[in-house]
Amino acid sequence: MDILSLSAVELAAKIREKEVTVKEAVEAVFTQIALREESLNCYVTLDKEDALKQAEEVQKKIDNGEFTGFLAGVPVAIKDNMCIEGMRTTCCSKMLENFIPTYSSEVVLNLKRAGAIIIGKTNMDEFAMGSTTETSAFGETKNPWNEKHVPGGSSGGSAAAVAAEECFFALGSDTGGSIRQPTSFCGVVGMKPTYGTVSRYGLVAYGSSLDQIGPITKNVEDCAAVMEIIATHDTKDSTSVNRKDTDFTSALIEDVKGIKIGIPRDYFGEGLDSEVKEAVLAAAKALEKKGAVIEEFDLSFVDYAIPAYYTIACAEASSNLERFDGVKYGYRTEAYEGLHNMYKKTRSEGFGAEVKRRIMLGAFVLSSGYYDAYYLKALRTKALIKKAFDEAFEKYDVILSPVAPTTAPELGKSLSDPLKMYLGDIYTISANLAGLPGISIPCGVDKKGLPIGLQLIGDCFQEKKLIQTAYTYEKIRGKFPKPAQIVKGGEK
Ligand code: GLN
Repeated sequence: MDILSLSAVELAAKIREKEVTVKEAVEAVFTQIALREESLNCYVTLDKEDALKQAEEVQKKIDNGEFTGFLAGVPVAIKDNMCIEGMRTTCCSKMLENFIPTYSSEVVLNLKRAGAIIIGKTNMDEFAMGSTTETSAFGETKNPWNEKHVPGGSSGGSAAAVAAEECFFALGSDTGGSIRQPTSFCGVVGMKPTYGTVSRYGLVAYGSSLDQIGPITKNVEDCAAVMEIIATHDTKDSTSVNRKDTDFTSALIEDVKGIKIGIPRDYFGEGLDSEVKEAVLAAAKALEKKGAVIEEFDLSFVDYAIPAYYTIACAEASSNLERFDGVKYGYRTEAYEGLHNMYKKTRSEGFGAEVKRRIMLGAFVLSSGYYDAYYLKALRTKALIKKAFDEAFEKYDVILSPVAPTTAPELGKSLSDPLKMYLGDIYTISANLAGLPGISIPCGVDKKGLPIGLQLIGDCFQEKKLIQTAYTYEKIRGKFPKPAQIVKGGEK
C-alpha cells in the first residue's frame, strides 16, 4: 500500500481498521524525509526517536479504544514558531537558535490529545516575516513542484512538507497570508481561521492582533478535521473565543446551490498574472454551474490594505520582539561592555535584515511624533476595511479571489526588493486586518507547471460556508496533480 498518498483522515481510518500501524506511518514519513530533505529543507528539527515512542503509546491507546478520532496516529509537522516542550523552537532565527521551551502551545496539546504524532518543526521566514521562507536563518526551503522556485512563506516549510508527502498534515500561522500563500504556491489546502478561533498560547508572537494558527492539509476534508481538533476555547489566550460551532466536518457537503459568491473587481485588476486570473475565474464559473450565485462587486479600500497592514504588523512586531534582549531568551553576544552595549550587540547579531527592517519601521510609526500620522491612521484604515467587508457580507456568503497575484517566484528574486514582496500580499492581508476566515485551495497549474490557488473569504465565524464551498469545488475539480518531481520513499 502506498501509505504516503493517503490523506490524514484516510490514514487514521486505515490505522483504526488495522490495515496500517502507527509505526508504519511514521517510518514511511521518515523514509520520504530521508529521500527529499537534502534538497527541499522543509524541516529545521526532526525527532524520529521521539516520534516512534509516541507511535508506540498512541498505538496502544488506539487498540484499547482510548483514541477513536480522525487524527489518531497521524504524523504532523509543526511550524517552528509554536512551542513544544523539550523540542527546540527557533522561529528560524539565530536569536532563538538554542531555545528549548519548557511548555507546549495549546494547539500542540490539542493535537496530542487527539493522538497525532509530532515529528518535527518546519522551516519558516524568520519570526514569520516574509513571503518566501528565504529569510530563515537555516537556509531556504525549495518548492517541491520546482526546486528553482520558493515554496512561499512564511509557513513555506509546512506547505512544502505536506506537498512533498514528508508529513500527512502540518500547522502554519497566518498574520498576513502565511498559510494561504504558501499552500497556494505548493498546491495544497490551507485555512486561516477567524481571529480568536485557535489559541495563540505558545505561538511566538509577530503581530498579535493579526496572528492565527491554522491547518495545512492535502485536501478540504483534512482541513475540516484538523480545524475541529485545534479550535478550542483557551483561557490562557485572552482573545480566545468560546465557540460552540466547531463541528467543522459537518460542513463537508457537496452542494453550493443558492450560495452567494461575490467577486471583488478590485482584486482582478493590474498586477494580476493572466494565468492566475483565468484559473480563478474558471473556478468561479464551475461553482456557478453547480448552482452558486456569482456577482461582481467593488470592495473599497483595497489600495490601503498593504500600507495599513505593514504599519500595524511592524508596530506590533517591534513591541513583541523587545523581549529578545540577551537576558531572557536565546542568543547573547559574546563580548560586550556594559548592559546597553550587550542589548545592542545581541540584537544586531541575533536578528536578520528583514526582522531589523520591521523593528525599525515599527518603532518609527509608534514614536510619539509619528504615532497619530501613521499608527493611528492605520488603525482607522483597518476599521474602514472591516466595514467594507461587513457591507459585502450583507450581500454575499463567500468572497472569491486569487490568493496571490502570481505563482511561486524563483528563488533569490524577492528579497532584493522588499516593497515588491510586500505588494504580493495584496489579496490575503485584508482578511487578517478584518479578523476574517480564509481558505486557499488549488485551482490550476500555470505554463511553468506551478500550482495556482483560489481563495475563499468568509464573514467572521463562517468557516463552515468556506469548507462547504471549497469541498464542493474540490469535487468538481477532481484530484489535483502531485508535484512532477515527487520522488517516492516509504512504499510498502
Ligand atoms: N508576508 C507577510 C509578512 O511578511 C505575511 C507574513 C505572515 O502571515 N506571517 O508580514
